Amino acid sequence: MTDRKIEGKIVISGVLECLTGLHIGASKENLEIGALDSPVVRDPITKQPYIPGSSLKGKLRALLEKATPECPPNRNGGTRERPVMRHECDDFESAVNCPVCRLFGSTGHNGGRNFPARLRVRDLYLTPESFAMLEKIDTGLLYTEWKFENALDRVTSAANPRNLERVPRGSRFEACLVYDVEDLEAAKTDVDNLRLALRLLEDDALGGHGSRGYGQVKVEIHQILARKLEDYRRREEATGGEKVITDLSQLDELWEHFGS
Ligand SMILES: [Zn+2]
Repeated sequence: MTDRKIEGKIVISGVLECLTGLHIGASKENLEIGALDSPVVRDPITKQPYIPGSSLKGKLRALLEKATPECPPNRNGGTRERPVMRHECDDFESAVNCPVCRLFGSTGHNGGRNFPARLRVRDLYLTPESFAMLEKIDTGLLYTEWKFENALDRVTSAANPRNLERVPRGSRFEACLVYDVEDLEAAKTDVDNLRLALRLLEDDALGGHGSRGYGQVKVEIHQILARKLEDYRRREEATGGEKVITDLSQLDELWEHFGS
C-alpha cells in the first residue's frame, strides 16, 4: 500500500473569460416560482453567478479522458435515464499510475481504495471589473442575461421553447487551481496533462448547450507558484523562498525549485 507524502504545491492562477454566453445550471430545487426555465448557479450570499470548481474540474477530466486512449470508459457517470460512460480506476494502486485519476481522483470500486485527486479547482468568482460591468447591464435579471431557445422534439416535432439564463460574453472569472506535488516525475506529467486539458477546453465548451455555441472560454494563466514544504514552514517569518513564474513555458524553473 502506497502512502502519500506531500512535497509541496503548485498554485496556478489566472482568469477564465467567457467568449460566448455561459450557462452552468443551478439545481431545479432552488427554482423560484415563475423564474426562468433554466437558471444559472449563483452564490447564495452575493447572488453573483459563479463557476463551481467542480464544473470546471469535471470538464477538464472529461477532456483529458478523451485524449488518453489507455483510460477507456468503464463506469456509468450519468443517470439511469441518461447513462454516460466515463473512466475511473477501481483502486489506489491503479489510480496512482493513471494519468486521469492521479490528477482528478477516483472513488474506490469493488473493494478498492479511493484515490483523492491531486488537483483542486477552486470556485471561480467574477473579477471586480466584470462585476462592475454586469452591475450596469439592464436585462431584467441580476448580473446575467436570458436567451430564448426553441428546441424541437425530434420524435413529435413539437416545439419546446425555453428561456435559458446565461452569464454574458466578456465576463471574466478569477481561476485558481492547486496541485499537490507528491512525486516530482509524476507531477511533470500531470502538469503537462492539465495544460493539454486547458488547451482542449478552449476549443470545446464549458457548461450547458455547447452545441448551441454557449460556453466558449479562454483561459489566461497569470502566475504559477511553486511552494515546497519548507517554503510553507518559513512563511511565518517571510516569504521569498517560493518560486513564481508567469508562463507555462518556464516550467523547468519550477521543477528545479522542487529538486533543489
Ligand atoms: Zn484511472
